[in-house]
Amino acid sequence: MASLFTHLECSVPCGAPACDPRMRRHLCACGAPLLARYDLAAARAWPRESLAGRAPDMWRYRELLPLLDGEAPVTLGEGFTPLVHAERLGAAIGLDRLYIKDESLNPTNSFKARGQSAAITRARGLRASTIALPTAGNAGNAAAAYAAAAGLRCEVFMPADAKRPFVDECRLYGAHVTLVDGLITDAGRLAAERGGPLGWYDVSTLKEPYRIEGKKTMAYELAEQMDWRWPDWIVYPTGGGTGMVGMWKAFDEIEAIGWVPRGPRPRMVSVQAEHCAPIVRAFEQGAERAAPWEHAATIADGLRVPRAIGDFLILRAIRESGGTAVAVPDDAMVEGMLRIGRLEGVSAAPEGGAALAAIERLLAAGTIRQSDSVVLFNTGGALKYLDVLQA
Ligand SMILES: *Cc1c(COP(=O)(O)O)cnc(C)c1O
Repeated sequence: MASLFTHLECSVPCGAPACDPRMRRHLCACGAPLLARYDLAAARAWPRESLAGRAPDMWRYRELLPLLDGEAPVTLGEGFTPLVHAERLGAAIGLDRLYIKDESLNPTNSFKARGQSAAITRARGLRASTIALPTAGNAGNAAAAYAAAAGLRCEVFMPADAKRPFVDECRLYGAHVTLVDGLITDAGRLAAERGGPLGWYDVSTLKEPYRIEGKKTMAYELAEQMDWRWPDWIVYPTGGGTGMVGMWKAFDEIEAIGWVPRGPRPRMVSVQAEHCAPIVRAFEQGAERAAPWEHAATIADGLRVPRAIGDFLILRAIRESGGTAVAVPDDAMVEGMLRIGRLEGVSAAPEGGAALAAIERLLAAGTIRQSDSVVLFNTGGALKYLDVLQA
C-alpha cells in the first residue's frame, strides 16, 4: 500500500481549514504546530502481518508516514532500534520488567535521526535547496547528515557553548555552523531572521509538521516489539517534546487502525532537568501552557529548552495518559549514565541517565510498582558527552 498521507491540520485544533501538504507549511495561521493526517479508514485494511518481510527501519510504517506521489524517503537506516530487557539494571533498582529502547543506535547517535529523515524527505519533496535549524547538538547532527544524503545545504545555529563534538560533526557532513551567544531559543530567532528572506526551509522543533511524524515511529516499534501490548509506563526525557507528542499521536493512529485494541495506554512520564523544568512546573501547577524557564542550565543539552512551542500538547499527553513529570539534578543524570553503562553495556546520554534517575524516584515514591513494565527511552548515546564523566 502507498502512503495514505492526506493533509495537515491545526494541533489545537483552531478550526482553520485543512492545509495542502504540496505547499510549504510551517505553523498554523493561529501560531500552533500543524499535524499530518492520513486516511485512517483506508489504513484499517493494512494488516500488521505485512510488516514481517519489511526492512528494519522506520519506513516499514510508510503507509502512515508523510510520502507523496510514490516518492522515496531520504533514509540512512534510522529506526527499528533494539528494545533491551534490562534485567541486571532492573534487578538493581527493583523492577522485574525494565526495558531500554536504545535510540543511541540511530544514525548520528540519537533519535533525532527519525525526525530529520521525515522532515528532510518533505523538504526535498518541496524543492527546498537549503534547510536551517537551531539546535543544542543532536538535531543539528541529524539534520546535517540527512541534508547531505539528500543533496541539500544545511545551516545550523548553535549556542556558542555547545559541546565540541556536536559542532565538529555538523561540519563533517558539510553543514555551515553559526555559533550564537545565548540559548537555543536565541539561536532560533537568529536562524529565522537570516533564513526567512532567503527562503531557507526551517526544520525547527514543531515549526514544521514532519519531525513528529518520524518520532512517532518509536511508538509503532514499541507496539511491534512488545507483541502489540503497551507497557505500563513510558519514561521520556523531554525538551521540545516531539517524542512525547509524536508517540501520543501514534497511539491514536494505532488504535484507529486496530493494531492495538483501545484500552489503557502507557502512562507518559516527562523527565526534565532540575534547572530547566518548564513542563514539570506547569504540570504541578495544573497549567495548560508552560511559562518560559529563566536561566536554564543543565548538562543534558537536549533538555536545555526553556520554552517549547508544543507545551500544551506535551501537557495534554501527560495528563490524558495518567502520567506525571519529574525533574532530576545533573549529578543524578551522570550517575544514571554510569549505571546503564556498567549494568547493561548500553551507551546512554545524560538524557537517558535522567530517565533512569526519574524511574528510581517514582519507584521510591510508590508511583511505579515493582511488577510494572517500564520502558526507559535512551534518546541518545554517551560518546559526544564524555566530558561530563570527568567532572
Ligand atoms: C533532543 C533530545 C531530547 C529531547 O527531545 P524532544 O523529543 O524534543 O523533547 C532528549 N534527548 C536527547 C538525547 C536529545 O537529543
